[in-house]
Amino acid sequence: MPARETEAIILKTFSLGEADRLVSFFGRSSGRMRGVAAGARRLKNRYGSTLEVLSHVQLWYVERETRDLVRIQQCELLESFHKAQSDYALSTGLAVVSEVSERVLPEHEAAEPMFRLLLLTVREIERTAAWQLPLSYFAFWAVRLGGYLPQLDRCAKCGTLFDEHAAFHAPWEPGLLCEKCKRPGMRTLHEEGRKLAERFATERLDKIEFVAALERPAAELREAALNWIEQHTEKQLQTRKLLETT
Ligand SMILES: [Zn+2]
Repeated sequence: MPARETEAIILKTFSLGEADRLVSFFGRSSGRMRGVAAGARRLKNRYGSTLEVLSHVQLWYVERETRDLVRIQQCELLESFHKAQSDYALSTGLAVVSEVSERVLPEHEAAEPMFRLLLLTVREIERTAAWQLPLSYFAFWAVRLGGYLPQLDRCAKCGTLFDEHAAFHAPWEPGLLCEKCKRPGMRTLHEEGRKLAERFATERLDKIEFVAALERPAAELREAALNWIEQHTEKQLQTRKLLETT
């Protein structure tokens, strides 16, 4: 079979045997796929640093009729995110972006808005050397593009408008609830966090300045969006707890 070519973002890699790597990547034209990079674990290999988490690459692969895994022939770096990839705190942010992408992207299905969202998010983590605002933006948009963003202005149970009051969310609840309907263990999303969601919906991430006043709203909105992702995919995000340690 002839080789195919796609612009791609590396999502994750795993060791495969002594010498190879299993690579999960999100191709701009191919969608999310898995492939084998033969010899990628050898000291001298032709992939170099291209297979780092969330690297932006040009990738050539061959499909094999009988297997799910493609064979990766060649990979070239288009854009380096070295600063973020080599910093512990920043790489925890990247790990969450990677896990959410693996979770929400269907296989073999191109998704241009998600591709652009991923690139913008990683570029901003690299440029600003902080994951807080980019990760909030990414989680919010992943939920919105997935089509399961709840109404942010009223209670999902009784319909009461929140106005300036707090709203409540949890990983077991698809909607936002009011003070009266909330259950024990739910977390708070204040008005400022809901206002930040409105800004995210209309302004580009790289145009929003991360001032100190946005810290709490960004954290609350991020927690809410990650909860909705867990609720929607019916599974906990493993990398999420790492954020609390950075
Ligand atoms: Zn209510």
